[in-house]
Amino acid sequence: CGIVGYVGARDSVPLLVEGLHRLEYRGYDSAGIAVLDDAGLQVVKTAGRVADLRRIMPAGLAATSGIAHTRWATHGEPSDRNAHPHLDEKRRIAVVHNGVLENFDQLRAQLTDDGVRLSSDTDSEVLAHLIARAEAPTLEDAVRAALRQVEGTYGIIVLDADRPGELVAARRGSPIVLGVGDREMLVASDIAALVRFTQQVIYLDDDELATVTADGYRTSTLDAQTTTKSPTAIDVPS
Ligand code: GLU
Repeated sequence: CGIVGYVGARDSVPLLVEGLHRLEYRGYDSAGIAVLDDAGLQVVKTAGRVADLRRIMPAGLAATSGIAHTRWATHGEPSDRNAHPHLDEKRRIAVVHNGVLENFDQLRAQLTDDGVRLSSDTDSEVLAHLIARAEAPTLEDAVRAALRQVEGTYGIIVLDADRPGELVAARRGSPIVLGVGDREMLVASDIAALVRFTQQVIYLDDDELATVTADGYRTSTLDAQTTTKSPTAIDVPS
């Protein structure tokens, strides 16, 4: 139902949890976070409230990039295992997804036939496996290859353990906004999650992708045409 991502120099954990808290007004049944530290992807997720997530957060968890999700279940009951982020089997790719994938049954069946063990009942999990299995030179290209196979709506943020300091976001029918900070970037489904950190934003269009790093962003279409976008200032009521 809501997503937020961070890449920069600060510890992403409190920023992401704060972002989720700001998205709570939209309603949700589960919450989760994945951050990338020296040991790899660290995932904490649970059915319930952001307060429940805070309570189970391991002390000392800290990382300069991460993604987070509040879920409004559409496929698969609200439960710990169905909470996002979802990972591929090697725990290299983490994905948060808003929306509904219409052809998830077929994609789940194909993945299962290929020997992939699915670990949730969601439509969203297929994205992590499709991205991990794509043979592509960049994460952005892998995300493109995966999105070409899905039908439905999505706002996604992807974190790759092999590419620290980078996030890829994409949308179709579900909002994504980039927040441009000072040597840090946020990505969210809603400006509510980022207004406290930056007022400079860029809205992605449908069928658009963004690669973000601490120092900048690059946008392009699903068919790899570069798009040019500049940040606009949000009017924050004082
Ligand atoms: N369809 C996905 C699920 O049920 C995402 C729902 C959402 O947008 O939160 O897990």
